[in-house]
Amino acid sequence: MSQDTQVVANLRAVQSAIADAASTAGRQAGSVTLVAVSKTHPAEHVRPALLAGQRVFGENRVQEARAKWPALKADFPGVELHLIGPLQTNKVREAVELFDVIETVDRPRLAQALAAECARQGRRPRCLIQVNSGREPQKAGIDPDEADAFIDACRTRWNLAVAGLMCIPPFDQDPRAHFELLVDIARRNGLPTLSMGMSGDYAAAIACGATHVRIGTAIFGERDYG
Ligand SMILES: *Cc1c(COP(=O)(O)O)cnc(C)c1O
Repeated sequence: MSQDTQVVANLRAVQSAIADAASTAGRQAGSVTLVAVSKTHPAEHVRPALLAGQRVFGENRVQEARAKWPALKADFPGVELHLIGPLQTNKVREAVELFDVIETVDRPRLAQALAAECARQGRRPRCLIQVNSGREPQKAGIDPDEADAFIDACRTRWNLAVAGLMCIPPFDQDPRAHFELLVDIARRNGLPTLSMGMSGDYAAAIACGATHVRIGTAIFGERDYG
């Protein structure tokens, strides 16, 4: 199979697995949005997914997304681009210009910088609060104990368009407890969006209530960081 054909076949298989997982959980297939994670993959490998109708994509680096996406967005109207990697405050301007959803809002300084930049540009990307559900010291995300206060500040103090929550569970644990923690925080804060689940655990995430699953490898293949 050519690379293009493989990407489209993988995309179809993932879409159908998402529909199955939703149906098993008694949910509508349309209640789960696939975020196709195209990081490290060049534009020519992303085009076949766009041609097949996929419109929601995730990138983890602002610089890479800036090099890749303006041309693709011009060719394919209706693309929704999600930032799923850590955001440094000195990249906030470019991030607000380019991304429709910023999934990694995780600290007051960043929220404040985003608020200032949104006001300057007159743009208001939807924001997800990243929660460090496993309280891992090396991982980004707000501590679960600080989540309620931070969500409230993002809404009322910084006027961000907070749509929901995102987490990346520790890779060596059953992710379910982490997904459930996120569900609890979302529920008590009235947040509808839950971005959780990757190639290895998205069925479990959908069973727990994910509205967005972020899937790279299962669609585009292994990443080459060489
Ligand atoms: C890379 C990445 C993904 C996709 O991971 P796969 O295992 O390739 O599906 C999802 N979420 C985040 C935050 C990522 O950085």
